[in-house]
Amino acid sequence: MTAKGHMTLASAVTLSYLYVDDGLISTLPHFEFFLLAILLGSLFPDIDEPESYIGKKLKVISIVMSSFFKHRTFTHYLIFPLSLILVAFFCVDNIFNKVTILGFALGILLHDAGDMLTKGGIKGFLWPIFPNTRIALLPYFLRFKTFSIEEYILIWLVLIPLNILLMFHFAKMEWWGI
Ligand SMILES: [Zn+2]
Repeated sequence: MTAKGHMTLASAVTLSYLYVDDGLISTLPHFEFFLLAILLGSLFPDIDEPESYIGKKLKVISIVMSSFFKHRTFTHYLIFPLSLILVAFFCVDNIFNKVTILGFALGILLHDAGDMLTKGGIKGFLWPIFPNTRIALLPYFLRFKTFSIEEYILIWLVLIPLNILLMFHFAKMEWWGI
């Protein structure tokens, strides 16, 4: 999935969740950083590919990472965000750091969900269990190729309008301070 696809999917899912459970906004401290961390997390796993959006931004780190891992391997495995969630809950006391790490981990999970909508899915997602099994969210014929017309239709006709509608909803609630 493209960077645009990952970011619009992550924000649409997060804002939809908030639409359903709007009490969360008032109970979660540092909410704006939580959202920002989700967006960053939604881009991060493709750092293993120097030609990706984030790979180009952080070229040196990306080249080093890609020499250790193949694309769509460790940074895309479930064990990576799960470890971050465990660290956030058990090793971090500062509430700001905890919320930011949790947001980042959720963003990574949403990135993985996006890649699992593509033809390739994520091979070895449940590593070390079933390291050769390709995991996807939909049957093959309903999935799309990265950069395909189907992905752009999903982004421009579904995800971006959904984001705009939800942002208007929250703007009306004066949550954004607009
Ligand atoms: Zn990816």
